[in-house]
Amino acid sequence: MKIAIVSSECVPYAKTGGLGDVIGSLPKALEKLGCDVKVFIPKYLFIDELKHGLRYNWNVGEMPIRVNGIVRSVHLHQATLPNSNVQVNFIDCPHYYNRGRIYTNDWDEDERFILLCKGVIETCQRLAWAPDVIQCNDWQTGLIPLYIKDNYNWDRMFDKTATVFTIHNIGYQGRFGKDTLYKAEINPNLYYPGGPVEFEDSVSFMKTGIVFADLISTVSVKYSHEILKPEYGAGLDPILRARKPDVYGILNGVDYQEWNPETDKFLPYKYSADDLSGKKLNKKFLMEHFRLPFDENRPLIGMISRLVPQKGFDIFVEAVDDLMKLDAQWILLGSGEYKYEEFFHKLSYYFPGKFASYIGYNNELAHLIEAGADIFVMPSRYEPCGLNQIYSLKYGTVPVVRKTGGLADTVKDWDEENYYGFDHGNGFSFYDYSGYALFKSVERAVNTFAHKDVWRKIQLNGMNCDFSWDRSAEKYIELFKLAKEKRSG
Ligand code: ADP
Repeated sequence: MKIAIVSSECVPYAKTGGLGDVIGSLPKALEKLGCDVKVFIPKYLFIDELKHGLRYNWNVGEMPIRVNGIVRSVHLHQATLPNSNVQVNFIDCPHYYNRGRIYTNDWDEDERFILLCKGVIETCQRLAWAPDVIQCNDWQTGLIPLYIKDNYNWDRMFDKTATVFTIHNIGYQGRFGKDTLYKAEINPNLYYPGGPVEFEDSVSFMKTGIVFADLISTVSVKYSHEILKPEYGAGLDPILRARKPDVYGILNGVDYQEWNPETDKFLPYKYSADDLSGKKLNKKFLMEHFRLPFDENRPLIGMISRLVPQKGFDIFVEAVDDLMKLDAQWILLGSGEYKYEEFFHKLSYYFPGKFASYIGYNNELAHLIEAGADIFVMPSRYEPCGLNQIYSLKYGTVPVVRKTGGLADTVKDWDEENYYGFDHGNGFSFYDYSGYALFKSVERAVNTFAHKDVWRKIQLNGMNCDFSWDRSAEKYIELFKLAKEKRSG
């Protein structure tokens, strides 16, 4: 099966969050199962051509592509995804992508991704490669299903090409003014209140993707149910409910070549479930780095996150007085909204030796915190899948999470499982979105940490979980087959 995967992020080239990790690993798993996979992303200025071995495709040459009435000169560069034969196609248009950042608030943000959507289709044409399925990821790719069925439907090459729209986060919808219709050359008849591309007086890329894709998927089963409800649907729940039989949930896998304490290239001390001694040494190393006094009997709590409301920081703020009274130490790595960055700066200032923070983006430190911390906290308001808690499980770092989306699908509460007579709990979780509920769960984890045997059991339960891509990639193939049938039927 020929599969095109389109995204605004892909590890190791461009990443702000989990989307980048997924697009850097799912294609490899699909390839292993015999698929012919090509990835498409923009060629951002910061992508190091030499380091990643990008080559200019002379056969394709110049692709003139019109956005906002202006024809841009677009070019194609290609590379191979590390440890695979997956071809990555970089859509090159300096006017839009030489901005230093993946996402901007610039006035032409819509144009940047209109160009991506058109660029992918035009590239397939020039490569004479007709994908069976185009998997579109998040709003940045939302116009592709419409383009395939409308603007480019003159091209017989795509007659059998199905589209799957995968929602990684419904909170980001790509909504723009009505002039986007002209910029993107969308048939104006599709824009009317409640129409297929209109949402609350704006042109919505995400809604367009949902309406025109043959099938829709999201990144955990629980989230696929949640987004059908007003509480989680961010306004698009009625649209999704109308397509309920076509909405699927497939849990993200993780790349254990990148995230495995036995082989992690960023860790000074490797360790495994059979011998956790290296974990303690990593903790010591990490704490020295942050000038926190090391005490093996006091748990170190880690947090790595984009600092945005979605991640539950308002309930963290609510509970902070109680949390700081616990006999534990904290390290936070994150960047995002100024108010949270400032809050955590101040917390480190007021609680030296207890709370440390690194405001910014640092992949190496993310690995080190996963390895060195004892507990990992993720109190998200909503969480489509979440990867950090899955990494934490692998690293023997017990997660404390809110029971939502992928967090609920991956973390089993130790006490709750015990209550029902099972001993396979791998973390701690709470349902109520409140500071109190968060505090009580962290408190349970901190208290349980003192019981070394129980703690070891919880750690091992997590370390033995398998969230590799193998199973999820098979489910994607099933989904792609269904989409193809739907398209031809
Ligand atoms: P989301 O995609 O919503 O940000 P996920 O848990 O799915 O959340 O994925 C987050 C990914 O981004 C993880 O790989 C995590 O390690 C990484 N990450 C988040 N913030 C930072 C940061 N400040 N520095 C380094 N890595 C980060």
